[in-house]
Amino acid sequence: MVEKISRVFARQVLDSRGNPTVECEVHTSSGFSRAMVPSGASTGVHEALELRDNDHCFLGKSVTMAVTNVNTAIAKALVGLDVTDQRVVDNALLALDGTPNKSRLGANAILSASMAACRESARVQGIPLHEFIGFLAANDRFVLPCPASNLINGGAHAGNELDIQEFMVMPLGAKSFAEGIQIVAEIYQTLKKKIVAKYGKQAVNVGDEGGFAPPLKEVREPIELILSAVQELGYSDVVRLALDSAASGFYADEAYTLAGKRLSGPELMEVYFDLKKTYDVYSFEDPFAEDDWLNWSDFTAEVGNVAQVVGDDLLVSNPVRIRKALMEEACNALLLKVNQIGTVSEALEAASLARKNGWKVMVSHRSGETEDSFIADLAVGLGCGQIKSGAPCRSERTAKYNQLLRIEEGLEARGQTNYFK
Ligand code: PEP
Ligand code: MG
Repeated sequence: MVEKISRVFARQVLDSRGNPTVECEVHTSSGFSRAMVPSGASTGVHEALELRDNDHCFLGKSVTMAVTNVNTAIAKALVGLDVTDQRVVDNALLALDGTPNKSRLGANAILSASMAACRESARVQGIPLHEFIGFLAANDRFVLPCPASNLINGGAHAGNELDIQEFMVMPLGAKSFAEGIQIVAEIYQTLKKKIVAKYGKQAVNVGDEGGFAPPLKEVREPIELILSAVQELGYSDVVRLALDSAASGFYADEAYTLAGKRLSGPELMEVYFDLKKTYDVYSFEDPFAEDDWLNWSDFTAEVGNVAQVVGDDLLVSNPVRIRKALMEEACNALLLKVNQIGTVSEALEAASLARKNGWKVMVSHRSGETEDSFIADLAVGLGCGQIKSGAPCRSERTAKYNQLLRIEEGLEARGQTNYFK
């Protein structure tokens, strides 16, 4: 089937932090589809460039230049192309930009068009988005991902003193996504009561990803709180812990400052070994800074056979960085964020490279999100088995979980459901 793009149009809208972002519409003769671009706070230095105006509007954060780039150069390049050929659409975007980090047009401008075209392609073919993504990824085994749900927020996402950014639970032992998200939601509400009882009502204000941000400092405190909620509900055998240290955020002058203590890489590693031993942590994301390759490799050599070591800022969803990490044996899983790389095709390429080499893939939201649920379909289409989309709270987070509930329902009706494995 061939369906030509007839119009491409972008506007500036707001993300979940109240900052501007790009929304794009891709039109064909029979209708149109939209996509919105997310934005990070603990952004890796090697990510593709997010183009902001840096003038007086929205305190420098407006994206009118990116919007104009979509409405002029990008629209001109895409109109007339076959929307069902994602590679052709994305290649046109890449050729038009011509820079290694999408600094000419902005990764936010480029991605908005790439995602909207992908969604429109599925629409004109009359298939769900996850099915079209599955086709692009040469995958026909749709898997509902286990949610990695961030219940306590720290680091750049919260106003407390926790250095580790995300304290997550993963209901690996659930039988379905619906059961998994129910378990997560019950833990979240139980945790809320415990935090109120211990720290007062002001301590259950939520951070950027919907998790609580109580006034804690030590690494073990949030873990103990979460585990007491898990135990109270009787979910100890079903749920495992996952951490995103986002360690670039507390790394400076060749040392890590954790809970006020200056630690070398090997000393920080000891902290993680201890957490692994005490709490059997399932997944460690960004345990070290984005260019601290040696400590990443040493850590993976020690725990890689018993824990997931996930590269986020380390890899920035970029096949070039993934290749280096494969050579260095620096981690064993990819965190996939579409806006770190800037086109759907490149994100799929990153996932494919990771999986071909035996790594796991976890699809991820950003801390600045929108109501767009694209990544829910991406996770199912890839069949990668894991997604992180924050706490079961705040609509920009639950938009993804709710879309996964719908997808699961649709797949169940066709007898095709798989969860996590
Ligand atoms: C992360 O670090 O994994 C994350 C989701 O945060 P941000 O979007 O701020 O990079
Ligand atoms: Mg991260």
